[in-house]
Amino acid sequence: MKLIKGGTVVGPVGAIPGDVLIVGEKISAIFAPGEGPQEGDFEVVDATGKYVIPGGVDAHTHMELPFGGTFASDTFDTGTKAAAFGGTTTIIDFAVQRTGEVVQDGLAAWHAKAAGNCHVDYAFHQILGGVDDESLKAMDQLVTGEGVTSFKLFMAYPGVFYSDDGQILRAMQKARDNGAMIMMHAENGPAIDVLVKQALERGETDPIHHGLTRPEALEAEATSRAIWLASVAADCPLYIVHLSASKALEQVAAARDLGRNVFAETCPQYLYLTLEDQLGAPGFEGAKWVCSTPLRSKHETHRADLWKGLRSNDLSVVSTDHCPFCFKDQKELGIGDFSKIPNGIGSVEHRVDLLYQGVVDGKLSLARWVETIATTPARMFGLFPRKGVIAPGSDADIVLYDPSARTRISVETHHMNMDHSAWEDYEIDGKVDTVISRGRVIVSGDTYHGHAGHGRFLRRGLSDYLL
Ligand SMILES: [Zn+2]
Ligand SMILES: [Zn+2]
Repeated sequence: MKLIKGGTVVGPVGAIPGDVLIVGEKISAIFAPGEGPQEGDFEVVDATGKYVIPGGVDAHTHMELPFGGTFASDTFDTGTKAAAFGGTTTIIDFAVQRTGEVVQDGLAAWHAKAAGNCHVDYAFHQILGGVDDESLKAMDQLVTGEGVTSFKLFMAYPGVFYSDDGQILRAMQKARDNGAMIMMHAENGPAIDVLVKQALERGETDPIHHGLTRPEALEAEATSRAIWLASVAADCPLYIVHLSASKALEQVAAARDLGRNVFAETCPQYLYLTLEDQLGAPGFEGAKWVCSTPLRSKHETHRADLWKGLRSNDLSVVSTDHCPFCFKDQKELGIGDFSKIPNGIGSVEHRVDLLYQGVVDGKLSLARWVETIATTPARMFGLFPRKGVIAPGSDADIVLYDPSARTRISVETHHMNMDHSAWEDYEIDGKVDTVISRGRVIVSGDTYHGHAGHGRFLRRGLSDYLL
């Protein structure tokens, strides 16, 4: 037994002083300060001056993802350990079905990569790289038999993951029937490919052209088209991933105003980083920030609109889209041709901190911080009430967050398997102090007590948010 004593418990309904009793792997009770057990066989964890929050749930990671001839540089081992250091105790990674592959084989390959290697609990979404009769049937089997209840489709990357509108509609109809969530990479891939080809023909090869050839209009158009297609599929549940642009957000907000089953996430990079300052860094440096959707212009309203969207719940979740590549030998594949730079940024370790800075900066409430990083992703993807909340019966995944300490992000100190940080020198007015995963203290200050294999696979139910 453990008693977390003297802290302020923060959840989606607000902050209350309270002591949290953990028995085994579960939360057993929450007491008014000092009213918990006074003596007995338990260990006291002093939380004085700290926020006691549910462990973070990162609903969008890509450990070891094959991309553009290489692999995302974090394994499930290194990536989930980094997640733990950053206060994230659950990840949902994307199993991949490539075109022509059997869906269940793709899922089995992901289980093989993750099993025994994870430091925190994990679950899977399934990427469908080829929608046909077989994969549609597989969707039912994954929902009922495998605990995989969400499917990602791509309107981008023709020839790799791309689904056409007919395929998307068929998958949406299936999801409407079996209750699964359709997750959409909403960018118009065929149009982007034309712009990329034209840019390269003009000799525009620097990383910034990655962003310039993926304009806001092509994210907004695809987002709108996905929303319309979902309406044709009788309001199939739809979740737009990595939303980055104001006009895409407008589409989501309009659908939500109509009461539709439409949701969206954004990522820390879109809240803080920009086309000019990062992607447009001199020389090839900008390759560090090549991700899709791309970073947007600081001269437009994207960042302010995304923060506002988080407050208003037009954006429900903050995930990382953690997909790290080293600069040397990986990002460098795109020297002289931006279209060959592997797409992705590594942030799984920093999401809880970066969003806490939003609280310090007056952009989010404390309650909304916890909701967007933990409670809502758990509810969105069928992990609630096991994850995402501090309540009796829930898994004892708990973070003690210290608002009086500071974090400075650097490649020198991070735990992700990357040779650079997209967040180098970012300072946070707060710090992850202690991380508990299913009742075990796995991080205490800068000391690590966890181990690979502690993390377990989580079978998920259907989303909480559907009508
Ligand atoms: Zn994507
Ligand atoms: Zn992704």
